[in-house]
Amino acid sequence: MHKITWIPGDGVGPEISDASRAIIDASGVDIEWEIVDAGVDVMEKYGTPLPEHVLESIRRNKIAVKGPITTPIGTGFRSVNVALRKALDLYANLRPAKSLPGVKTRYEDIDLVIVRENTEDLYAGIEHMVTDDAAESIKIITKKASRRIVEFAFEYALKEGRRKVTAIHKANIMKCTDGLFLATAREVAEKYPQIEFEDRIVDNICMQLVIKPELYDVLVLPNLYGDIVSDLCAGLVGGLGVAPGANIGDGIAVFEPVHGSAPKYKGQNKVNPLALLQSGILMLRYINEREAADRIYKAMTAVLEEGARVTYDLGGSAGTSEMAEAIIDRM
Ligand code: NAD
Repeated sequence: MHKITWIPGDGVGPEISDASRAIIDASGVDIEWEIVDAGVDVMEKYGTPLPEHVLESIRRNKIAVKGPITTPIGTGFRSVNVALRKALDLYANLRPAKSLPGVKTRYEDIDLVIVRENTEDLYAGIEHMVTDDAAESIKIITKKASRRIVEFAFEYALKEGRRKVTAIHKANIMKCTDGLFLATAREVAEKYPQIEFEDRIVDNICMQLVIKPELYDVLVLPNLYGDIVSDLCAGLVGGLGVAPGANIGDGIAVFEPVHGSAPKYKGQNKVNPLALLQSGILMLRYINEREAADRIYKAMTAVLEEGARVTYDLGGSAGTSEMAEAIIDRM
């Protein structure tokens, strides 16, 4: 039996959480959920959107599944999502982008994995106003963080039987920062002769991914490019409603959808549960419950191919819970 932390989140989080957990439970996998709340709805009760017992639960269980959490604009508190990644040193953001049968997009056979560095780059938040009319932001790239993210990408490629890793950078312009990332990637690649390695400049890869996505396999990127390119890849396979993700550190992982809390749809039983469900499937594979993961994936794709009981974003009129029921029926 596995014990796993589940954070429903806020906004549409609780609805897609109920739907996704019901599907995972119906797969027969033996999981005891430790359900803990974080986000705007617990602010009043705990005085913080990320209570310490939530972090403790993840540290204890090592694995968590998390719904989206709102970052209100104009208030004092920082993003819970960023705080959580920092507190647990979840340095790798993993975002598979795989075509789903029944989900209409420009391409039918996309199978990409984006590995984004999660801790540094322009996201270190070191910025200030120089004068009223000029601002400065500092980009930090270290050898240590570059090495561990590229090693993560290669280890993932090995474990999942992938053929190639592509490092993305702008080292032609940012010779120090991106130059260090690229040099480190090349160094790490030498330890993995069985996996092909290449590098691409970030603007070029954006064009290539739109024109010839089949040329690529695992992409490894510093934080900012990773943020942008992973959304581009989510768009190639059907958008926010279906895109899963994971934030992974050493021996600890939090699985969460790419999308946010979609507050305008809160409580309407309307949004697609698949981004969170697919994050759950990633989690099941991570804990080696591959049979349960395959069972859910098969039922999910059958419902998508049928196309009758799917949510609005996929052209249907089913609610969140009806789509979940359809998947459970197929299982
Ligand atoms: P969002 O992803 O919440 O929603 C944007 C739009 O995408 C929605 O209005 C909806 O049309 C669509 N959408 C999102 N999820 C969907 C789903 N499951 N099914 C169908 N359609 C879906 O982005 P936003 O409006 O920019 O952000 C809302 C809040 O979420 C903000 O406070 C933001 O900070 C937060 N956020 C949290 C996370 C996270 O928890 N990791 C990630 C992104 C944004």
